[in-house]
Amino acid sequence: MRLLLIEDDVALGEGIHQALGREGYTVDWVQDGASALHSLLSETFDLAVLDLGLPRMDGLEVLRRLRDSGSNLPVLILTARDATEDRIAGLDAGADDYLIKPFDLAELKARLRALLRRSVGRAQMLIEHSGISLNPGTQQVSYHGEPVALTPKEYQLLHELLSPPGRVMTRDHLMQLLYGWNEEAESNTLEVHIHHLRKKFSTDLIRTIRGVGYLVEERR
Ligand code: CA
Repeated sequence: MRLLLIEDDVALGEGIHQALGREGYTVDWVQDGASALHSLLSETFDLAVLDLGLPRMDGLEVLRRLRDSGSNLPVLILTARDATEDRIAGLDAGADDYLIKPFDLAELKARLRALLRRSVGRAQMLIEHSGISLNPGTQQVSYHGEPVALTPKEYQLLHELLSPPGRVMTRDHLMQLLYGWNEEAESNTLEVHIHHLRKKFSTDLIRTIRGVGYLVEERR
């Protein structure tokens, strides 16, 4: 799951970034409203955590413009303790949930899981392909009826390759999906994940398109 964190408080941002990274999210972090809006409109995320008090464009404005663009990305806003009006304005502007600072990281994680379940529930069906069955709601995967344990990154990669199959996914796209911009990754790390997926399913599930990326054929 790729998440955009928008928070200008460096200490708080670092805490959230680390906590959500450990939880298995790919976290991209920006620290001002203009960069946030640019990222939200040009990249694909599954969730956003949005602070309201931000330099260069305030969080409410970011949210309004995001919704004006037609996006229904789940957004959780972070607001200062006493700003009731902010909270109401945030929900009016299209936030899905809010947390009041200071908050517990465990609560943030729980709220995000709930948001994700709701958004996944809206759109998702079981994905089935070549004996693989992937349930986006529970993130459980089976192969010919047997459960298969995947790491969060393997799951993310498989989900992307199967949604829908038949598209060549470039290395750059997949690397950004798995690692975002902030996280350093070894250059062969994508190959390693692909190798593991082939071992867990079948060696010919994922085709390498030399110099470009990877492909799961539509029908095999
Ligand atoms: Ca702030």
